[in-house]
Amino acid sequence: DSTTVEELTKSDATHTGQAAERPLVELRHVDKYFGDLHVLKDINLSVSKGEVLVIIGPSGSGKSTLCRTINRLESIDSGEILIDGQPLPQEGRQLTRLRAEVGMVFQSFNLFSHKTILDNVTLAPRKVRGTSKADAEKEGIELLSRVGVDTQASKLPVQLSGGQQQRVAIARSLAMHPKVMLFDEPTSALDPEMINEVLDVMVNLAKEGMTMIVVTHEMGFARQAANRVVFMADGEILEEGSPEEFFENPTSERARDFLGKIL
Ligand code: ADP
Ligand code: MG
Repeated sequence: DSTTVEELTKSDATHTGQAAERPLVELRHVDKYFGDLHVLKDINLSVSKGEVLVIIGPSGSGKSTLCRTINRLESIDSGEILIDGQPLPQEGRQLTRLRAEVGMVFQSFNLFSHKTILDNVTLAPRKVRGTSKADAEKEGIELLSRVGVDTQASKLPVQLSGGQQQRVAIARSLAMHPKVMLFDEPTSALDPEMINEVLDVMVNLAKEGMTMIVVTHEMGFARQAANRVVFMADGEILEEGSPEEFFENPTSERARDFLGKIL
């Protein structure tokens, strides 16, 4: 009967990418404490496929902790986190799979210092995904080329500039084919002249449709690439809106005060 047909059509839609309605990353009532410090307070957030979310806020407001809970570098005390509809696994193999789905780029580049640039990019696909050396290297070179450092493939991280190392870190994350990329202040440890080369790579990723959560105070990036800006202070999300709304018309005193200091 017609009900069955309708249901079939619906379930078909979820298999053909029509399920963009379902958030790729969803936090529901997430609370996190460090001892007595209530560092994340009832955080509710969802990010759709292809969306670029920028998180800004004063130092100590919980932005890094929030990112770290999303790939389970930190546990949460209550609430839940779903990645592509699946609850975050707590441990073991499932967790390794999750880490592959959620790429993360930190302020400090965290490359393996005793490995070449190419090895840095191929290590995880080979160890975690079991990709062959030849295939991993072929894709590794492609990824390094995409971020503009393929000519450095056989060097060690120390031989590269900070901006180049951060671009390698991005390529290394992409090598695992993540569903979402988290960036935690990816340019704040860089010399000013290197900031744009990293932001350019991120803008291109955004244009290619990557789902991204980016902690940054780079307003130019936010205006250019973000679909939505979230303002955090003291473990809470105080505001959420389009970059235009937020930068031109912040509603909370905290946000106005913060923007006054950084702009
Ligand atoms: P942000 O990234 O916005 O600067 P963080 O998430 O790093 O903020 O930190 C939020 C608060 O949690 C800060 O007060 C910080 O000192 C505290 N904090 C962060 N990590 C830990 C930890 N591992 N143990 C105890 N306190 C922590
Ligand atoms: Mg931080």
